[in-house]
Amino acid sequence: MIYNEEFETLPREAIRALQVKRLQGVLQRVYHTVGYYKKAFDAAGIKPDDFQAMADMHRLPFTNRKDLRENYPFGLFAVPMSSIVRLHASSGTSGVSTVFGYTRHDIDIWSELMARSLAAAGLTKNDIVHNAYGYGLFTGGLGLHYGAEKIGASVIPMSGGNTKRQIMILQDFGPTAICSTPSYALHLAEEGKAQGVDMKSLKLRVGIFGAEPWSKAICAEIEQAFSITALNIFGLSEVMGPGIAMECLEGRNGMHVFEDHFIVETINPATGEILPEGEEGELVFTTLTKEAFPLIRYRSGDISRLITEPCRCGRSHIRMERVVKRSDDMLIIRGINVFPSQVEAILVAIEGLEPHYQLIVDKAGALDSVELQVEVSEKIFSESGGVKDLQNIERRIVKDMKDYLGISPRVKLVEPNTLQRQAGAFKKVIDKRKF
Ligand code: AMP
Ligand code: ZN
Repeated sequence: MIYNEEFETLPREAIRALQVKRLQGVLQRVYHTVGYYKKAFDAAGIKPDDFQAMADMHRLPFTNRKDLRENYPFGLFAVPMSSIVRLHASSGTSGVSTVFGYTRHDIDIWSELMARSLAAAGLTKNDIVHNAYGYGLFTGGLGLHYGAEKIGASVIPMSGGNTKRQIMILQDFGPTAICSTPSYALHLAEEGKAQGVDMKSLKLRVGIFGAEPWSKAICAEIEQAFSITALNIFGLSEVMGPGIAMECLEGRNGMHVFEDHFIVETINPATGEILPEGEEGELVFTTLTKEAFPLIRYRSGDISRLITEPCRCGRSHIRMERVVKRSDDMLIIRGINVFPSQVEAILVAIEGLEPHYQLIVDKAGALDSVELQVEVSEKIFSESGGVKDLQNIERRIVKDMKDYLGISPRVKLVEPNTLQRQAGAFKKVIDKRKF
């Protein structure tokens, strides 16, 4: 079902015209209300009025994660705090975290785009939705929740964790749809099987999965384990949250980007040049309707390809292929974005550590597992009472990683100069997972 027939099936030329008109308004607004954009536009020698057609896109400056961090927490907001009704944030300590604000209108639009996404998965008010995305500062849980309520479905605000209880509720409440990260879905299937529950006989019909990379093979595995159709949903908190793009039931090939609210481009990550539609590159998003936190040409770091062929579902919005690669060093661990720089910021704040570490990411069953090896200073190692100090340091690392980043690594302290150096440099991250 198409939730917003008028906008989701607009002819391509009408979409382009709408994008140009909306962006002209956004450019005026950000130039006059956000100091950062005024500076960035002035430095690029462009005035809001210079943008007359899509061909002018390349003249607009990019916005990077670095710009967001430098303006932490509220520096990029285009409205006063009295107009903000919600704040979300990424994980990390001050300076490496980012904050996102929403006005009432922003929440309404987000809810509509989530409603469109759920409708694209065939959901209606007759469905019961088991929402196992995390609720909280992460956008997944609440984003999905509002969309499910908007279509009138019955939402179970499960959030993540408590796997046994989730399995009980899946059996007792009979949800027809499940939303979670794909790895958590697989984990639920494995745990259910271990408990002797026939996950195929649950009432589930469809699953909406995202927030982390997953392959077609994992998709097939989930579909098989629950006997459902597994669809892909894409989003990033900077730009809005989940519901920027959604795979439709009919197409099963790529996710429609809601182009009446976002412009998506693919660029060469090395040169910043715009690539012809269809070529693989880094996705760049511009928001067209956001009030609180508009973003101009935000470099997502996600690598994908745009599909321009019309889709059999009737939606005219462009599709983006499954994302399984990044152009930067961001890791996604159990659905949480983690940068090596964030791990570093935590380690340098702890006395007695060398800034040398290795993060080893792997799978333990369906879920991600992390080991963090850190070199300890000579002094701590040689001093009496060292063992006790070592235990304290270890505990502190575990706690800070959990508190600030939301991940729980196994921590291993090692003697100075023991971590393998390659050509003088460390391989700080070893990701053994396959997507
Ligand atoms: P967050 O801002 O925490 O929601 O994380 C956003 C990031 O998660 C994106 O930039 C992607 O790297 C990743 N992501 C979200 N949805 C998907 C998806 N369906 N497939 C692959 N990666 C995804
Ligand atoms: Zn479609």
